[in-house]
Order: sequence, then C-alpha cells, then structure tokens
Amino acid sequence: MSIDFKKAAEEFSTPLYIYDFKYMRSQYRALKEAFEGKKSLITYAVKANSNLSVIANFAKESSGADCVSIGEVKRALLAGIEPYKIIFSGVGKSYDEIKEALELKILMINTESEAELHLVEEVSKEIGIEARVSVRVNPNVDPKTHPYISTGLHENKFGVDIDMAKRMYIYSKNSDYLDPIGIHFHIGSQLTNLEPIAEAAQIIADLVRSLKAIDIDIKFFDFGGGLGIKYSDEILIDPKDYAEAIISATKGLDVTLVCEPGRYMSANGGYLVTKVLYEKINGSKRFTIVDAAMNDLLRPSLYNAYHKIESVERKDGKESPTDIVGPICESGDFLAKDTLMPPLEGGDLLVVNSAGAYGFTMASNYNTRGKACEVAYDNGEFRVIRRRESFEDLIEQERLYLKD
Ligand SMILES: *Cc1c(COP(=O)(O)O)cnc(C)c1O
Repeated sequence: MSIDFKKAAEEFSTPLYIYDFKYMRSQYRALKEAFEGKKSLITYAVKANSNLSVIANFAKESSGADCVSIGEVKRALLAGIEPYKIIFSGVGKSYDEIKEALELKILMINTESEAELHLVEEVSKEIGIEARVSVRVNPNVDPKTHPYISTGLHENKFGVDIDMAKRMYIYSKNSDYLDPIGIHFHIGSQLTNLEPIAEAAQIIADLVRSLKAIDIDIKFFDFGGGLGIKYSDEILIDPKDYAEAIISATKGLDVTLVCEPGRYMSANGGYLVTKVLYEKINGSKRFTIVDAAMNDLLRPSLYNAYHKIESVERKDGKESPTDIVGPICESGDFLAKDTLMPPLEGGDLLVVNSAGAYGFTMASNYNTRGKACEVAYDNGEFRVIRRRESFEDLIEQERLYLKD
C-alpha cells in the first residue's frame, strides 16, 4: 500500500477518511474506455461520495453526474460538472426541486411515477421551460444481490412497469411541455452477475424499439449503475463484458449509452483510518473498541456489509477473532464481527477498506459525534477536502430555549 496511513493519522487525527484520487480517475477511465467507439456518457452517482473535490476529480475527466436531490445537483454544478451532463433521479422529487432543476437546465429529469411526470409538466408550464424527461422503468428482473440493495423488482418502490412507462411516454409526446428524450433502469447495486443486467437491457431496448415505432425517439439509454466491487473475494463483472452486453442489447438503436456508477468509481479508492482505544474480553469474547463508529461508516450496521479491516503497523502475534466496535451506545455499532486481528492495544491504527462509497455520505452526528475529516491523496500528497466537525459545528443550527 502506497498511502502512509500513520503519517496521515498523525497529521489529521482519527477517524479519518482518505481518498485516492488517482485510483478514482483510473476507474472512470476503465469504464469510459469499455464503451470506446460508442456514444457514451458516464454520470457518476454523487450519492456514493459527494465531497465537492471528489466530484471535481471526476468532472476533470469529463464525467457527468447522477443526482438524487437538488442538493446533489447543486453540488455537481459547483464541482464543475456541465449542466448538460446532469441527470436528476429519485423516487420523490418535490415541486421546488423540479422547478430549480428546470431552471438550472440540466440534461433531464428522470421521472419515477405518473404523478411525478404530471407535476413536472405543471411546473414546466408555470415557468415556461420545456422539461427534458426520462422514465425509470422497472424491468422486474432479480439482480440476485442483497434484498436491501435490489431495486429492479416490482416489489421495490423504484420506477414503473412497462405498460405504465408506455403511457407516460405517449402522454409526454402529446404534451407541449415535456420532451421525452431518455429511458432509464437501475436494477440494483453491487451487481456481480452479468445476466440480470443483460436481460434488463434487452427488455428496455425492446421497449425503446416499440416507442420508436410510434415516433417517440429516445436518445439516451441509461442502464443505471450498480457495478459490483471487491469487498472480499467477489468475482467481478469485467467492464468490457458489461459494455458488450449493453451494446449488443441496443444494436441498431441510435442512442447515447448512459452509465451511472457510484461504488465502482469510488469505493476502493477510500479508506477509513481509525485508532484503537481499548481491547477487552467479555467472557471469552474479544472486542476491539475503536474511535470510528456507525455514525462514520454505517454499512456494517445497516446491511451487515463486510469491510476488510487491517492493522496498519502491528502485524505480529497470534491472530484471533474480534468484534471491532465503536463508542456509540448501540449493540449494532460495529465495523466488523469476528474478524481476525493480531493482538492490539490502545493507540494502534486500523484501516477500513472499500470506504470510498456510501461511507462519509451516510455519516451522521448520532451521539453528538462530529463527522470525520476527509483527505484527498494525490501525487503523493494529502490535502484536506473537508475539515473535521467541531462541537460548535454540531450545535450551530440550534437555539437554546429556556422557559423562565
Ligand atoms: C444508487 C444509484 C446508483 C449508483 O449505484 P452504485 O451501486 O453505487 O453504482 C445509480 N443509479 C441510481 C438511480 C441509483 O439510485
């Protein structure tokens, strides 16, 4: 490992997020290259890691952005992503969000229900700006992943079924205020199986063909994100095979292929560095108590997700299983369960891997804990891209009301 975690911990303290910007750029390039020769747009899923500098690092590579709130849209713009490369998705966009998105002239609004499409039309009419829209179609394909991160089944809340999608496209075509330019699906996250994506792409491409037959010309074929990454020993989809499956499904269609990866772009470029506070044995069970907690990295608690954790310096001695837990007053506050670790003591550093996606963005202030510092690592240098939160930051919005 080329990053000097000890030096970073000494300089910026812990818990600390470190992002390897070069790695993130290389992930973007690998995916972009897989689509070489085709019209393609990679829209980074900002929710994975929305630090402005992380987005800017992708913007420099000419990435677009997939956003799920107006806040994310504004982040993307501020970080230098061009408006015409921004897609606004999400199952519940509000009136104000839609209005602002139209005013900001982004590429398109991805609608997820008939009611939402009607609202987009209403807003567009009111402010006199035609709305470029896409429809999120739920192809009812089982992605064979964790149920919490599958999104492409009818039992999930996302998107609309094929018949409804058709009705929404016809409605949009007949509206003076809606311009249906895109189609979208996203069947889930951490996909390690190509077949479900290929199957969904075939279904949606057929829908695009049937829309074309009635003069609805879809220009953006957005097949979502979800490319899996290595947390432990997963066998991954090769980006080239992924691209090939999409290219083959859309054969004969004149569309720009849009991919919205989040995790793939940033997860394995991120590390959470944490310091051991104490070790203890309850009965026969070993616990390693560290200064990072579920408020810093929620995935283990939320999804029972596995993150590989390594000791930075201390490697000697007999390894034994331990639960790596944080200081928060919840039994669900853990970063790893029964993971093998050498003997540790207070002050030792651990590094949590694959922490560049859905790490800091899911952080909270639970237990009045300030959010960690975020640091970029590039060209051998560290740079603070978000300072550690202070107690004053945490109470800034509050007003002390005392009844006399
Ligand atoms: C979350 C999300 C993504 C990104 O998912 P990853 O698994 O991080 O690639 C892409 N598109 C949509 C619509 C999403 O909700």
